[in-house]
Amino acid sequence: MADSSYDVIIIGSGVGGGAVALQLAGSGARVLILERGPVLPREPQNWDPEALFCDLRYRSDETWTSGTRRFRPGQYYYVGGHTKFYGAAMFRFRERDFEESVHEDGFSPAWPISYADLEPWYTQAERLFGVRGTAGLDPTEPPRSAPYPHPSRSSKPR
Ligand SMILES: Cc1cc2nc3c(=O)[nH]c(=O)nc-3n(C[C@H](O)[C@H](O)[C@H](O)COP(=O)(O)OP(=O)(O)OC[C@H]3O[C@@H](n4cnc5c(N)ncnc54)[C@H](O)[C@@H]3O)c2cc1C
Repeated sequence: MADSSYDVIIIGSGVGGGAVALQLAGSGARVLILERGPVLPREPQNWDPEALFCDLRYRSDETWTSGTRRFRPGQYYYVGGHTKFYGAAMFRFRERDFEESVHEDGFSPAWPISYADLEPWYTQAERLFGVRGTAGLDPTEPPRSAPYPHPSRSSKPR
């Protein structure tokens, strides 16, 4: 019988699961990535705003409910996850995002870790993904131990 035991099982192949898998590659650990979606077909519609945003070609057909409201969620289940579709803006959470926050219909408890605990990992991830930016422009920006790996670039004209 084939050996079907693993040291690490990663559920989901988006940027989160992918970064973990990359860290583990070469470590000698037996790693299994589980992904519920198929491989996204490569076709002209990948670059077609009408197919993406009007026809919702790649969106899940699931129906979710919120109270009595039924809706088709903005979920994309593919190898590579939502990360195949995302806008590539890589923001760090702000310090207060880790604290308890009160909302109209309840509260979101504090995280068991703080921004300071994650800061070195944000720095490492920004290097891995080659994030561009200019520190110090955004007054809500949390402290960072290293500058952005690459300078910001101006936006392309629409
Ligand atoms: C159109 C769009 C634009 C976005 N733009 C941005 C942006 O600019 N910046 C930003 O920070 N975020 C953005 N987001 C959110 C963004 O997708 C996430 O921040 C990021 O891609 C999440 O990565 P992830 O690895 O956590 O999850 P995902 O990339 O979603 O990966 C999770 C994977 O897990 C799989 N999965 C789920 N459940 C199971 C299961 N039970 N078993 C097996 N597999 C499972 C899913 O199929 C998926 O492949 C955007 C999202 C969308 C849809």
